[in-house]
Amino acid sequence: MKTINIAIDGPAGAGKSTIAKMVSAELGYIYVDTGAMYRAVALYLTENNIPDEDIEKAVEKVEVSLKFVDGAQRVYLGDRDVSELIRTPEISMAASRTSAVPAVRARLFDLQQKLARENNIIMDGRDIGTVVLPNADVKIFLTASAEERANRRYKELSEKPDCPSYDEILKDIIQRDYNDMHRETAPLKQADDAVLVDTTELTLEQSAARISEIIKERV
Ligand code: C5P
Repeated sequence: MKTINIAIDGPAGAGKSTIAKMVSAELGYIYVDTGAMYRAVALYLTENNIPDEDIEKAVEKVEVSLKFVDGAQRVYLGDRDVSELIRTPEISMAASRTSAVPAVRARLFDLQQKLARENNIIMDGRDIGTVVLPNADVKIFLTASAEERANRRYKELSEKPDCPSYDEILKDIIQRDYNDMHRETAPLKQADDAVLVDTTELTLEQSAARISEIIKERV
């Protein structure tokens, strides 16, 4: 039976994962966060102090897998649940750097395609509509201004100890956008047939409603 595949791409902090979670719960699809897979690989490379020239070889040994507990994705390195450990600014930056290595992308590509073959999914990332699922039923490119994305991230982190400053967050976002858009393999870009949604002026609920409407119109 053919599964339904929805691709959501866009830059860091555009709200992809929060919105994709809301919409997948509404539609009864599985939400796959591919950024978490790149973060898990980056964690492995960081913990094992792998220098750049050895990444290609080291990545052959990395075992990333996903489990879904009550609809929520957990990411594993071997049999270790690393879902929380991967959510640090260091791992964000490491993932942005190491995801440019073709061997890292190749390692995760098959896993992503298999998930899409076997499940009705909403998959988010940077290259889902362009490379991983070029035949997705619906493609959305979700974006917002860098300042607004930094603002949202700052609000989210401001409750926590050691919260970076707004300027640091903005600098990180601009750097990650640049890395993702300028790498040679699978750069971040809008697929020709993707619908562009700019959430700069939208609330989370308005953004989710818009995405849900686009999906329902097409599926
Ligand atoms: O989405 P998230 O910010 O968690 O992704 C972490 C990093 O993984 C991104 O900055 C990007 O470099 C990389 N990534 C990617 N391709 C994807 C998903 C994420 O290169 N499909």
